Amino acid sequence: MARNIGLNVPIPEKDCDDVNCPFHGTLPVRGQVITGKVVSDKMTGSVVVQRDYLHFVRKYQRYEKRSSKIHAHNPPCLYARVGDMVSIAECRPLSKTKTYVVVEVDRA
Ligand SMILES: [Zn+2]
Repeated sequence: MARNIGLNVPIPEKDCDDVNCPFHGTLPVRGQVITGKVVSDKMTGSVVVQRDYLHFVRKYQRYEKRSSKIHAHNPPCLYARVGDMVSIAECRPLSKTKTYVVVEVDRA
């Protein structure tokens, strides 16, 4: 059975046996929840999520586009792929660069 992770996200339909899955493992999530687009799924068990945002430049009274990339753990039950919009939740550090985990996949 899937655990309640304390966020308003649907429970994944598939099961998995990943200890670092917030639903089927023992990984607690807390802190920020971010949405972004998956731009790479080449790593095993991880995805790269890009977040685009606008930054206002006062000198020119215009916005400039900025983006940041966040590495996130991709549990097998959610299986996010390139192009998916995902919600990622903050968790404890899972590796040198991963402190987020995918909690919702919106396949458009
Ligand atoms: Zn799972």
